[in-house]
Parts: sequence; C-alpha cells; structure tokens
Amino acid sequence: MNQPEYKIGAGHDVHRLVTGRRLILGGKDIPFEKGLEGHSDADVLVHAVCDAILGALGCGDIGEHFPDTDPAYKGISSLVLLENCRALMEERGYAVNNLDCIVFAERPKLSPHKKDMEENLARVLKTDPGLLNIKATTTEGLGFTGRQEGIAAQCTLLLKALNIETQNHRKDQHGFKSL
Ligand code: MG
Repeated sequence: MNQPEYKIGAGHDVHRLVTGRRLILGGKDIPFEKGLEGHSDADVLVHAVCDAILGALGCGDIGEHFPDTDPAYKGISSLVLLENCRALMEERGYAVNNLDCIVFAERPKLSPHKKDMEENLARVLKTDPGLLNIKATTTEGLGFTGRQEGIAAQCTLLLKALNIETQNHRKDQHGFKSL
C-alpha cells in the first residue's frame, strides 16, 4: 500500500476543575482560582492534540501511550507528551498540515492567551503557528463546562506525508504498482 498523502485525526478530552491546582492550557500557565485535576499537568488542550496525532497515525490513544498509572508521567508537562507524539509522527513520515482546536470553558477568558498557546503548540510540533488555530467558547452556562466543573477541548488535525513522491517512487522500484 502506498502511504496515504493525508491522514486525519480527531481529539477530545475533559478534565475536572478543582481548587489548589494551576491551570495549564496549551502549555500556558493561566492565572485562575482553579486548575485542572489530573495525573500530568492535566493540559486538556494538549491531550486532545496528542490523541488526534495518535488517531491520525492509527496508533491508539494517549491512555495507551502514557498511562496515568505510570509514576513517570506524574505532574509531567503535557508538552513532553506532545513531543513524544510528534517524534512518532516524524518517524512515520508525517508532518502537520493544519490543526483546528476548540476549548470549552465558561471562565477564564482565553482570548488573551490563544496566541501564546498557538506558539507553544507550533514550537513543539515544529510547524508554523499560522497552520494552527485555537478557538475558545463558553457553553452559555449549560452543562459541566457551563457550571465551571470542568474544561473540555476538541480538535481536528490533518497530517501530510513528507516526501511522498520519493517514498512512492522507492516502492515502484521494488515492484509495487503506482496508484
Ligand atoms: Mg486528559
């Protein structure tokens, strides 16, 4: 099989808001009276992006790669997990084509932080921040995000194969039929 030129992935995650924790979103420490609970730094946005990469690659999910029972991941910056996912993506011959994210949070207001979050993600993913988009929305007071019990994040990611022509050409030479 020739390597597909594009692969799409979806990510979704939820973490509970609690007192006594820092709020880290998109690798940014955001001043707020509550933070997200979790084994790692509970960066719900980065977790959704990790899951989208793993999904696009057909490599399972974040829980399989970084189990929350493993003490190695306790309190870890989720950007480190994202770095691992990026390494896997590179190893499989893909790069980010574009990424679109939504964070669902009633509070705090995230618009002043979106640019920094995009830059953090772009740095770790080794891509142009212009290919990433982060949207923030409230849920109009409805549901667990509306009641400020938690924050949710969702994303859609498209990966593009690196050197697709070279790779397909190589396969041709080894007797694979070109599509
Ligand atoms: Mg998570």
